[in-house]
Amino acid sequence: MSVPRTALPTRPRPRDETAGVRRFWQELGLPGLVDVHTHFMPERVLRKVWAYFDGLGPLTGGIEWPITYRAEEAERAALLRAFGVRAFTSMLYPHKPGMARWLNDWAAGFARRTPDCLHTSTFFPEPGAADYVREAVEDGARVFKAHVQVGGYDPADEALDACWGLLAEAGVPVVVHCGSGPAPGKHTGPEPVARVLARHPRLRLVVAHLGMPEYEDFLDLAERYAEVRLDTTMAFTDFSERMAPFPGRALSRLADLGDRVLLGTDFPNIPYRYAHQLDALAGLGLGEGWLRAVCHDNAARLFGLPDTPGAAPV
Ligand SMILES: [Zn+2]
Repeated sequence: MSVPRTALPTRPRPRDETAGVRRFWQELGLPGLVDVHTHFMPERVLRKVWAYFDGLGPLTGGIEWPITYRAEEAERAALLRAFGVRAFTSMLYPHKPGMARWLNDWAAGFARRTPDCLHTSTFFPEPGAADYVREAVEDGARVFKAHVQVGGYDPADEALDACWGLLAEAGVPVVVHCGSGPAPGKHTGPEPVARVLARHPRLRLVVAHLGMPEYEDFLDLAERYAEVRLDTTMAFTDFSERMAPFPGRALSRLADLGDRVLLGTDFPNIPYRYAHQLDALAGLGLGEGWLRAVCHDNAARLFGLPDTPGAAPV
């Protein structure tokens, strides 16, 4: 399906937007940003996601959600580069059986033509899942995405047990949308992933959106399991704080977990500008050391990025 360019009414961009984002990491003395939660997917799928947000689908919580970075794929990747994002992901996820393998094939191709994208894969509870997860890992997948809300499945489903086991053994991180924001799903919340972690305690599970709105329950899990991490996606922004405010009493726990919090943004599907996520993190007042770790160093270490940007392919 080809969509005319006129279907992409990109919102006017402030002229100094890229300069503002670059100033953020330059002032921290960082070589750039690492964003573990960005969405790239087959064009047809992404258009459907945008249409879903435009139509205020039930999983948006019925909240107005204007997509800020509605642009062609190459333009979106170029913008991340211009922001100074050294490495990003192509989070994608199936909502039904028979889709994951196709998405993984697309994502492998995208990573090949986009060297600063960390090769991303996904899965669904279905026969053969462990096979295509193993193939993806062997093919060089660096990170996986699982979406419990959109997928509507129990992450502790037996059909996924071998997948979690494979990823735990390979040490490949998996970003999981398991919190109940912006709208709860049948299997969202801390309990189902807690059952997964009880069986696979070394799994490098990255709780997306800081587990919003069940922030404290997911902090519990991160404190209990040394390999559990949290991504900041949409957390602390004005948009999320209105909907699901982070409890101030938990801020010190977030400070203590500073080596396991990773910058994520949900670019391009965000209802505000990229810099707002960064400013929201800075506004927590947890200090420059915390920001350096969260916005770059933790993910650089997790994914083994070279110390000097440009020295070697990501
Ligand atoms: Zn996302």
